[in-house]
Amino acid sequence: MQRVSDKKADQLTVRRLNMAAILKLLRERGTLARADLAKELGMTRNTASNIVNDLLQAGLVIETEYRRAGAGRPGLLLELAPNGGFAIGAEIDINRIIVVAVDFRGNVLLEESAKIDPKKPKEEIIATAEKLVQSALNWGADEHIRPLGIGLGLAALVDSENGSLSYAPTLNWENISFRKMWQEKFGIPVYLDNEANTSALGYFAYADRSNAHNLAYLSIGVGMAAGLILEGHLFRGSNGFAGQAGHMKIKPEGEPCTCGDNGCLITEVAIPALIRKTGKKDLSVDEVADRLRDGDEKLTAIINEMAEMLGIGIVNIANLFNLDQVVLGGAMRPILSHMTDRAKQTVKKRALSQPNKQVKITVSGRDDDGVFGAACLVLDAIMNDPVELVRSLI
Ligand SMILES: [Zn+2]
Repeated sequence: MQRVSDKKADQLTVRRLNMAAILKLLRERGTLARADLAKELGMTRNTASNIVNDLLQAGLVIETEYRRAGAGRPGLLLELAPNGGFAIGAEIDINRIIVVAVDFRGNVLLEESAKIDPKKPKEEIIATAEKLVQSALNWGADEHIRPLGIGLGLAALVDSENGSLSYAPTLNWENISFRKMWQEKFGIPVYLDNEANTSALGYFAYADRSNAHNLAYLSIGVGMAAGLILEGHLFRGSNGFAGQAGHMKIKPEGEPCTCGDNGCLITEVAIPALIRKTGKKDLSVDEVADRLRDGDEKLTAIINEMAEMLGIGIVNIANLFNLDQVVLGGAMRPILSHMTDRAKQTVKKRALSQPNKQVKITVSGRDDDGVFGAACLVLDAIMNDPVELVRSLI
């Protein structure tokens, strides 16, 4: 026989799953009638209605009237409440901090950024980020919209479960418990992930991805990592450290890598590789892009060689996951469009099977995918487990 406490726990789990399913379906469809909602999710109308009533009371869902042509009585449609709250997304890059606010439907409300000097002490850089977050919170307070949480994307190894930065090689930061620090400071939930994962989430939610359900977002800058969306969900692996595409081994006797091994992909394709190959320490990414446009032959040869290596990296990823799309982004974005043709040729030549040969390879059209993905961390957390929040609101 089941114990009473077990039964209660089961009921709570079912309620959590049902509530999450309703919110996710509304997010996907935009609007739905109560009866259709119950039917599509295989719930009784009573179960669906009880949950919908709680969501209405919590202000996360609203009902709008609609009138069918010729029909008499108006019907009611459910949709996510734009004013259900707002999520803050933040990203700390090597030379800038961006903060955005999006409403409960994911619409962009504001975006602010500040330049930073990575050589400055971490306390100073974090204080700048906190100032931008506080300014977004103040904006929300003025607009009378409640803050739902903060999502933070970092170019670092991130322990997303514990909400801490493990190691950021570019900023030389170690072990910072952002969740603990910011939850104490701002009093709302804080979620963390690495910048490749948040970029993948942001691209998946906001860009025109032509119905790709399996995509890799390769963020290439000083380092390289892949955010993997597999069957519509971010894949983090057992410990959250999946996607280390930059450390794929492609030349066993190659150049030494920051990871201690040799011949990783980033030793051939990333900003430090570009500096090594050109022998120019202070070459900026924009300058390289300009010189490529002007037809600089020596630089074009270097970039073609890098593109070939990038193509081999993509071949390995595409063969492994049978992806719909590979998106290229990150600090090297201005140069990447000069690499796609050669990379595509390599993939066509070397990938296994027709579908993998034809994987779509694109350069992201924007440089802030990551910060919108960071805001998605907040919305996704609520969509996955809304019970606590709803309970606190009604
Ligand atoms: Zn490595």
